[in-house]
Amino acid sequence: MNRFEDKVVLITGAASGLGQASALQVAKEGAKLSLVDLNQEGLEETRKKVLLEAPEAEILMIAADVSKEEDVKNYVEQTIQKFSRIDGFFNNAGIEGKQNLTEDFGSAEFNKVIGINLNGVFYGMQYVLRIMKKQGYGSIVNTASVGGIRGVGNQSGYAASKHGVVGLTRNSAIEYGQYGVSVKAIAPGAIMTPMVEGSLKQMGGDNWEEVGKEFVEPNPMKRFGKPEEVGYLVAFLLSDQANFINAAVIPIDGGQSYK
Ligand code: NAD
Repeated sequence: MNRFEDKVVLITGAASGLGQASALQVAKEGAKLSLVDLNQEGLEETRKKVLLEAPEAEILMIAADVSKEEDVKNYVEQTIQKFSRIDGFFNNAGIEGKQNLTEDFGSAEFNKVIGINLNGVFYGMQYVLRIMKKQGYGSIVNTASVGGIRGVGNQSGYAASKHGVVGLTRNSAIEYGQYGVSVKAIAPGAIMTPMVEGSLKQMGGDNWEEVGKEFVEPNPMKRFGKPEEVGYLVAFLLSDQANFINAAVIPIDGGQSYK
């Protein structure tokens, strides 16, 4: 399949995990890539991996902090300067933040997580939707989480931000469907990315793999998801094939959120 021939896909959080896996998937199908992240070394790693799979891929890399509106305006402008359009936008950069009871969570940590996971997603949508509305075409996939559908515990900032991403998704989907633009969200469960590995190492130290096994025991499929499994879903949702999927929040979690 070559669903992304002549298409431009913009991805935030592209230096790692779900963003990197999705970049690989759409590039293999012909996409031109605009890759955004705070982590420049990670972006370079993504670029190398993409070129191994898709040697012809055109790639723009942009260092930006999605919690800063100026940076977001700039990454959208740079993408348009280079490629003239944005067909797909994977609005994905995010952090987990520290875990704590609500009463001990702290406003600084709360605001930090909201700043990246919610404000960052809003800024991205704001600038990209203007472009897609003019084009009369486009697909946005926001990254929510199982923690944006139900309570997880000890994650006030994360839960609030991801429930907020679901709200932003549905709100804009209703507004922009008439322009041919669809907006949807994915709600991943536990996917084995550097983010999750980092949390498991905090919990279990050298014993983190054992802690991981206990962690997924309640999951109906008793395993972590793989980043590439999310990449396949994101590629489908960004493609023309999924244009009529609008306002939907799609779990990819082995069934965890329905248990
Ligand atoms: P990851 O840590 O592997 O990748 C996240 C990327 O976002 C990193 O490259 C990081 O540098 C970047 N980033 C963080 N803050 C940024 C900022 N302010 N500006 C620009 N880039 C920034 O994590 P991941 O698991 O791939 O997570 C991607 C998204 O998926 C996040 O929104 C996360 O909340 C969500 N998610 C992940 C899981 C999971 O199990 N892995 C589950 C549910 C939701």
